[in-house]
Amino acid sequence: MVTYTPKERLARALTGKDVDRMPAVSFTQTATVEQMEACGASWPEANEDAQKMATLAEAGHKQVGFEAVRVPFDITAEAEFFGCQIKPGTKEQQPSVVGHVVKDMSDIEKLREYDLNQGRVSVVCDAIRILADKYGKELPIMGSMLGPFSLAQHMNGDDWFMAIMTDEAFGMALMDLTTEFNIAYAKKMAENGADTMVIIDPTASAQLIGDEFYEKFVVPAHKKIADAMRELGVTTVLHICGDTTSGLELMESSGVDAISVDQNVDVATAVGKVDKAVIVGNLDPVNVLWNKDPELVKAASQKVLDAGVGVLAPGCGIVSKTPTKNLQAMVEMAKSHKY
Ligand SMILES: [Zn+2]
Repeated sequence: MVTYTPKERLARALTGKDVDRMPAVSFTQTATVEQMEACGASWPEANEDAQKMATLAEAGHKQVGFEAVRVPFDITAEAEFFGCQIKPGTKEQQPSVVGHVVKDMSDIEKLREYDLNQGRVSVVCDAIRILADKYGKELPIMGSMLGPFSLAQHMNGDDWFMAIMTDEAFGMALMDLTTEFNIAYAKKMAENGADTMVIIDPTASAQLIGDEFYEKFVVPAHKKIADAMRELGVTTVLHICGDTTSGLELMESSGVDAISVDQNVDVATAVGKVDKAVIVGNLDPVNVLWNKDPELVKAASQKVLDAGVGVLAPGCGIVSKTPTKNLQAMVEMAKSHKY
Protein backbone atom coordinates (compact mmCIF):
# COMPACT_ATOMS: atom_id res chain seq x y z
CA MET A 1 0.00 0.00 0.00
CA VAL A 2 1.33 3.42 -0.99
CA THR A 3 1.62 5.96 1.78
CA TYR A 4 1.33 9.58 0.75
CA THR A 5 2.60 12.72 2.38
CA PRO A 6 -0.28 14.82 3.77
CA LYS A 7 0.32 17.21 0.89
CA GLU A 8 -0.03 14.49 -1.76
CA ARG A 9 -2.94 12.88 0.05
CA LEU A 10 -5.03 16.05 0.16
CA ALA A 11 -4.29 16.97 -3.45
CA ARG A 12 -5.30 13.48 -4.53
CA ALA A 13 -8.42 13.36 -2.35
CA LEU A 14 -9.60 16.74 -3.68
CA THR A 15 -9.20 15.63 -7.27
CA GLY A 16 -10.91 12.28 -6.85
CA LYS A 17 -7.79 10.10 -7.02
CA ASP A 18 -7.17 7.01 -4.89
CA VAL A 19 -5.64 7.60 -1.47
CA ASP A 20 -4.53 5.37 1.38
CA ARG A 21 -6.91 7.09 3.84
CA MET A 22 -8.81 10.30 4.44
CA PRO A 23 -6.82 13.51 5.05
CA ALA A 24 -7.49 15.25 8.39
CA VAL A 25 -7.92 18.94 7.65
CA SER A 26 -10.17 21.95 8.05
CA PHE A 27 -11.01 24.05 5.00
CA THR A 28 -12.47 26.81 7.14
CA GLN A 29 -10.67 28.84 9.80
CA THR A 30 -8.69 26.80 12.33
CA ALA A 31 -7.74 29.11 15.22
CA THR A 32 -9.05 28.75 18.77
CA VAL A 33 -8.31 30.40 22.11
CA GLU A 34 -6.77 27.16 23.41
CA GLN A 35 -4.34 27.12 20.48
CA MET A 36 -3.58 30.83 21.00
CA GLU A 37 -2.69 30.13 24.62
CA ALA A 38 -0.53 27.16 23.70
CA CYS A 39 1.45 28.87 20.93
CA GLY A 40 1.64 32.46 22.22
CA ALA A 41 0.19 34.04 19.08
CA SER A 42 -3.35 35.40 19.53
CA TRP A 43 -6.02 37.32 17.71
CA PRO A 44 -6.18 40.18 16.98
CA GLU A 45 -2.37 40.46 16.53
CA ALA A 46 -2.23 37.18 14.61
CA ASN A 47 -4.53 38.75 12.01
CA GLU A 48 -2.07 41.61 11.43
CA ASP A 49 1.43 40.15 11.79
CA ALA A 50 2.74 37.53 9.37
CA GLN A 51 4.93 35.68 11.86
CA LYS A 52 2.15 35.51 14.45
CA MET A 53 -0.33 34.45 11.79
CA ALA A 54 2.01 31.65 10.73
CA THR A 55 2.58 30.60 14.36
CA LEU A 56 -1.15 30.38 15.05
CA ALA A 57 -1.76 28.49 11.79
CA GLU A 58 0.99 26.09 12.78
CA ALA A 59 -0.78 25.50 16.12
CA GLY A 60 -3.61 23.88 14.19
CA HIS A 61 -1.11 21.30 13.02
CA LYS A 62 0.91 20.96 16.23
CA GLN A 63 -1.85 21.15 18.85
CA VAL A 64 -4.85 19.75 17.02
CA GLY A 65 -3.18 17.48 14.49
CA PHE A 66 -4.56 19.00 11.31
CA GLU A 67 -2.53 17.69 8.39
CA ALA A 68 -2.30 21.12 6.76
CA VAL A 69 -1.60 24.72 7.69
CA ARG A 70 -4.09 27.38 6.72
CA VAL A 71 -4.30 31.19 6.74
CA PRO A 72 -5.88 33.64 7.37
CA PHE A 73 -8.49 33.26 10.13
CA ASP A 74 -10.95 35.98 9.14
CA ILE A 75 -12.62 37.21 5.95
CA THR A 76 -12.19 40.99 6.19
CA ALA A 77 -8.69 41.58 4.75
CA GLU A 78 -10.09 41.88 1.21
CA ALA A 79 -12.69 44.56 1.99
CA GLU A 80 -10.17 46.34 4.22
CA PHE A 81 -7.74 46.36 1.28
CA PHE A 82 -10.27 48.35 -0.74
CA GLY A 83 -10.82 50.81 2.09
CA CYS A 84 -13.94 49.46 3.81
CA GLN A 85 -14.21 50.37 7.47
CA ILE A 86 -13.46 47.43 9.77
CA LYS A 87 -14.57 46.84 13.34
CA PRO A 88 -11.45 45.40 14.98
CA GLY A 89 -11.57 41.89 16.37
CA THR A 90 -10.58 40.66 19.81
CA LYS A 91 -8.90 37.51 21.07
CA GLU A 92 -12.22 35.70 20.79
CA GLN A 93 -13.94 37.55 18.02
CA GLN A 94 -13.08 38.10 14.40
CA PRO A 95 -13.05 41.58 12.85
CA SER A 96 -16.07 42.58 10.77
CA VAL A 97 -16.84 44.95 7.93
CA VAL A 98 -18.94 47.94 9.01
CA GLY A 99 -18.42 50.54 6.29
CA HIS A 100 -18.67 50.31 2.51
CA VAL A 101 -16.85 52.10 -0.30
CA VAL A 102 -18.75 51.53 -3.56
CA LYS A 103 -22.00 53.33 -4.34
CA ASP A 104 -21.79 53.74 -8.09
CA MET A 105 -19.72 53.17 -11.23
CA SER A 106 -17.38 56.07 -10.51
CA ASP A 107 -16.40 54.46 -7.19
CA ILE A 108 -15.49 51.26 -9.04
CA GLU A 109 -13.28 53.17 -11.48
CA LYS A 110 -11.37 54.73 -8.58
CA LEU A 111 -10.48 51.28 -7.21
CA ARG A 112 -9.08 49.72 -10.37
CA GLU A 113 -5.46 50.46 -9.50
CA TYR A 114 -4.11 48.65 -6.48
CA ASP A 115 -0.94 47.18 -5.09
CA LEU A 116 -1.07 43.68 -3.59
CA ASN A 117 2.12 44.41 -1.67
CA GLN A 118 0.09 46.57 0.68
CA GLY A 119 -2.31 45.92 3.51
CA ARG A 120 -3.26 42.71 5.20
CA VAL A 121 -3.46 40.74 1.94
CA SER A 122 0.31 41.12 1.76
CA VAL A 123 0.62 39.98 5.40
CA VAL A 124 -1.32 36.83 4.47
CA CYS A 125 1.07 36.22 1.54
CA ASP A 126 4.06 36.67 3.87
CA ALA A 127 2.56 34.19 6.35
CA ILE A 128 2.08 31.69 3.52
CA ARG A 129 5.75 32.10 2.59
CA ILE A 130 6.85 31.44 6.18
CA LEU A 131 4.66 28.32 6.36
CA ALA A 132 5.69 27.07 2.92
CA ASP A 133 9.38 27.45 3.76
CA LYS A 134 8.89 25.38 6.89
CA TYR A 135 6.24 22.82 5.86
CA GLY A 136 5.81 23.13 2.10
CA LYS A 137 7.37 19.77 1.24
CA GLU A 138 5.23 17.83 3.68
CA LEU A 139 1.97 19.61 4.45
CA PRO A 140 -0.67 21.23 2.28
CA ILE A 141 -0.37 25.02 2.46
CA MET A 142 -3.90 26.37 2.34
CA GLY A 143 -4.64 29.93 1.38
CA SER A 144 -8.12 31.23 1.85
CA MET A 145 -9.85 34.36 0.62
CA LEU A 146 -13.26 35.94 0.59
CA GLY A 147 -14.86 35.21 -2.77
CA PRO A 148 -15.82 37.83 -5.36
CA PHE A 149 -19.57 37.98 -4.70
CA SER A 150 -19.29 38.42 -0.92
CA LEU A 151 -16.44 40.89 -1.44
CA ALA A 152 -18.70 42.92 -3.73
CA GLN A 153 -21.32 42.83 -0.99
CA HIS A 154 -18.78 44.03 1.57
CA MET A 155 -17.86 46.89 -0.78
CA ASN A 156 -21.40 47.87 -1.75
CA GLY A 157 -23.23 47.04 1.50
CA ASP A 158 -26.76 45.74 1.85
CA ASP A 159 -27.79 47.38 -1.43
CA TRP A 160 -25.83 44.73 -3.27
CA PHE A 161 -28.60 42.15 -3.59
CA MET A 162 -30.97 44.76 -5.02
CA ALA A 163 -28.21 46.15 -7.22
CA ILE A 164 -27.59 42.92 -9.12
CA MET A 165 -31.30 42.64 -9.86
CA THR A 166 -31.91 46.24 -10.92
CA ASP A 167 -28.60 47.44 -12.39
CA GLU A 168 -26.86 44.68 -14.27
CA ALA A 169 -24.11 46.89 -15.69
CA PHE A 170 -23.12 48.09 -12.23
CA GLY A 171 -23.34 44.58 -10.76
CA MET A 172 -21.19 43.16 -13.54
CA ALA A 173 -18.63 45.97 -13.24
CA LEU A 174 -18.21 45.39 -9.51
CA MET A 175 -17.99 41.63 -10.03
CA ASP A 176 -15.29 42.21 -12.65
CA LEU A 177 -13.29 44.29 -10.19
CA THR A 178 -13.58 41.79 -7.34
CA THR A 179 -12.95 38.77 -9.60
CA GLU A 180 -9.80 40.32 -11.10
CA PHE A 181 -8.62 41.10 -7.58
CA ASN A 182 -9.38 37.55 -6.38
CA ILE A 183 -7.41 36.05 -9.27
CA ALA A 184 -4.40 38.31 -8.70
CA TYR A 185 -4.48 37.70 -4.93
CA ALA A 186 -4.85 33.93 -5.32
CA LYS A 187 -1.96 33.86 -7.80
CA LYS A 188 0.19 35.77 -5.34
CA MET A 189 -0.69 33.31 -2.56
CA ALA A 190 0.22 30.47 -4.94
CA GLU A 191 3.54 32.15 -5.81
CA ASN A 192 4.27 32.28 -2.10
CA GLY A 193 3.64 28.56 -1.71
CA ALA A 194 -0.11 27.97 -1.37
CA ASP A 195 -1.13 24.68 -3.03
CA THR A 196 -4.80 24.67 -1.98
CA MET A 197 -7.12 27.66 -2.39
CA VAL A 198 -10.29 27.96 -0.35
CA ILE A 199 -12.78 30.44 -1.76
CA ILE A 200 -15.08 31.52 1.05
CA ASP A 201 -18.07 33.17 -0.59
CA PRO A 202 -20.67 32.96 2.20
CA THR A 203 -23.47 34.97 0.61
CA ALA A 204 -22.98 33.84 -3.00
CA SER A 205 -25.86 31.48 -2.60
CA ALA A 206 -28.34 30.41 -5.24
CA GLN A 207 -30.74 29.96 -2.34
CA LEU A 208 -30.46 33.70 -1.62
CA ILE A 209 -30.32 35.18 -5.12
CA GLY A 210 -31.93 32.49 -7.28
CA ASP A 211 -30.43 30.23 -9.93
CA GLU A 212 -30.63 32.77 -12.76
CA PHE A 213 -28.65 35.45 -10.95
CA TYR A 214 -26.25 32.91 -9.50
CA GLU A 215 -25.51 31.58 -12.97
CA LYS A 216 -25.05 35.06 -14.41
CA PHE A 217 -23.04 36.75 -11.65
CA VAL A 218 -21.35 34.05 -9.61
CA VAL A 219 -20.50 31.05 -11.80
CA PRO A 220 -18.32 32.93 -14.33
CA ALA A 221 -16.39 34.60 -11.50
CA HIS A 222 -15.69 31.35 -9.67
CA LYS A 223 -14.80 29.70 -12.97
CA LYS A 224 -12.14 32.31 -13.74
CA ILE A 225 -10.56 31.76 -10.32
CA ALA A 226 -10.73 27.96 -10.63
CA ASP A 227 -9.18 28.09 -14.12
CA ALA A 228 -6.35 30.37 -12.99
CA MET A 229 -5.59 28.05 -10.06
CA ARG A 230 -5.72 24.89 -12.17
CA GLU A 231 -3.07 26.39 -14.46
CA LEU A 232 -0.81 26.71 -11.42
CA GLY A 233 -1.56 23.21 -10.10
CA VAL A 234 -3.48 24.60 -7.14
CA THR A 235 -6.65 22.77 -6.05
CA THR A 236 -9.76 24.81 -5.30
CA VAL A 237 -12.40 24.41 -2.61
CA LEU A 238 -15.54 26.54 -2.69
CA HIS A 239 -17.38 27.25 0.56
CA ILE A 240 -20.81 28.86 0.56
CA CYS A 241 -22.86 29.06 3.76
CA GLY A 242 -26.38 27.81 4.34
CA ASP A 243 -28.43 25.15 2.59
CA THR A 244 -26.71 25.06 -0.81
CA THR A 245 -28.33 21.76 -1.87
CA SER A 246 -30.33 23.18 -4.75
CA GLY A 247 -27.34 25.14 -6.07
CA LEU A 248 -24.75 22.36 -6.06
CA GLU A 249 -24.87 21.66 -9.80
CA LEU A 250 -24.31 25.36 -10.53
CA MET A 251 -21.51 25.53 -7.97
CA GLU A 252 -19.86 22.55 -9.63
CA SER A 253 -20.22 24.09 -13.09
CA SER A 254 -17.55 26.64 -12.10
CA GLY A 255 -15.01 23.82 -12.20
CA VAL A 256 -13.84 23.96 -8.58
CA ASP A 257 -12.35 20.70 -7.36
CA ALA A 258 -14.27 20.51 -4.10
CA ILE A 259 -17.37 22.02 -2.54
CA SER A 260 -17.48 22.67 1.20
CA VAL A 261 -21.04 22.29 2.45
CA ASP A 262 -22.28 23.43 5.82
CA GLN A 263 -24.31 21.62 8.42
CA ASN A 264 -27.62 22.56 6.76
CA VAL A 265 -26.81 20.27 3.83
CA ASP A 266 -27.51 16.54 3.80
CA VAL A 267 -24.18 15.04 2.68
CA ALA A 268 -25.62 11.96 0.98
CA THR A 269 -27.95 14.17 -1.08
CA ALA A 270 -25.07 16.50 -1.92
CA VAL A 271 -22.80 13.66 -3.03
CA GLY A 272 -25.61 12.42 -5.29
CA LYS A 273 -26.08 15.82 -6.90
CA VAL A 274 -22.53 16.44 -8.09
CA ASP A 275 -20.71 14.73 -10.90
CA LYS A 276 -16.97 15.10 -10.21
CA ALA A 277 -16.67 17.66 -7.42
CA VAL A 278 -15.61 16.31 -4.03
CA ILE A 279 -18.03 17.17 -1.23
CA VAL A 280 -16.29 18.20 2.01
CA GLY A 281 -17.73 19.12 5.41
CA ASN A 282 -19.93 19.31 7.39
CA LEU A 283 -19.74 19.01 11.18
CA ASP A 284 -21.78 21.71 12.88
CA PRO A 285 -19.20 24.17 14.31
CA VAL A 286 -21.53 25.29 17.11
CA ASN A 287 -23.84 22.41 18.02
CA VAL A 288 -21.23 19.69 17.60
CA LEU A 289 -17.64 20.95 17.62
CA TRP A 290 -18.08 23.66 20.25
CA ASN A 291 -20.90 22.41 22.46
CA LYS A 292 -20.44 18.65 22.53
CA ASP A 293 -17.82 16.26 23.87
CA PRO A 294 -15.37 14.08 21.92
CA GLU A 295 -17.64 11.02 21.99
CA LEU A 296 -20.48 12.97 20.41
CA VAL A 297 -18.09 14.55 17.91
CA LYS A 298 -17.02 11.05 16.91
CA ALA A 299 -20.63 9.90 16.55
CA ALA A 300 -21.48 12.94 14.41
CA SER A 301 -18.33 12.36 12.35
CA GLN A 302 -19.30 8.74 11.74
CA LYS A 303 -22.66 9.86 10.36
CA VAL A 304 -20.96 12.25 7.92
CA LEU A 305 -18.47 9.56 6.89
CA ASP A 306 -21.28 7.04 6.39
CA ALA A 307 -23.07 9.57 4.20
CA GLY A 308 -20.09 9.41 1.84
CA VAL A 309 -18.33 12.72 2.44
CA GLY A 310 -15.13 13.21 0.42
CA VAL A 311 -13.22 14.82 3.29
CA LEU A 312 -14.57 15.16 6.84
CA ALA A 313 -14.21 18.76 8.06
CA PRO A 314 -16.03 21.51 9.96
CA GLY A 315 -19.11 22.75 8.09
CA CYS A 316 -18.14 26.39 8.53
CA GLY A 317 -15.61 28.49 10.47
CA ILE A 318 -15.09 27.03 13.95
CA VAL A 319 -15.87 29.09 17.06
CA SER A 320 -12.81 30.43 18.91
CA LYS A 321 -13.88 28.66 22.12
CA THR A 322 -13.98 25.24 20.44
CA PRO A 323 -12.18 22.69 22.67
CA THR A 324 -9.02 21.17 21.18
CA LYS A 325 -10.12 17.70 22.27
CA ASN A 326 -13.24 17.98 20.10
CA LEU A 327 -11.18 18.94 17.06
CA GLN A 328 -8.80 16.09 17.84
CA ALA A 329 -11.75 13.69 17.88
CA MET A 330 -12.67 14.82 14.36
CA VAL A 331 -9.03 14.46 13.22
CA GLU A 332 -8.89 10.94 14.65
CA MET A 333 -12.07 9.94 12.81
CA ALA A 334 -10.77 11.31 9.50
CA LYS A 335 -7.39 9.63 9.87
CA SER A 336 -8.91 6.24 10.59
CA HIS A 337 -11.24 6.40 7.59
CA LYS A 338 -10.41 4.42 4.48
CA TYR A 339 -12.47 5.10 1.37
ZN1 LIG B 1 -20.06 28.92 6.11
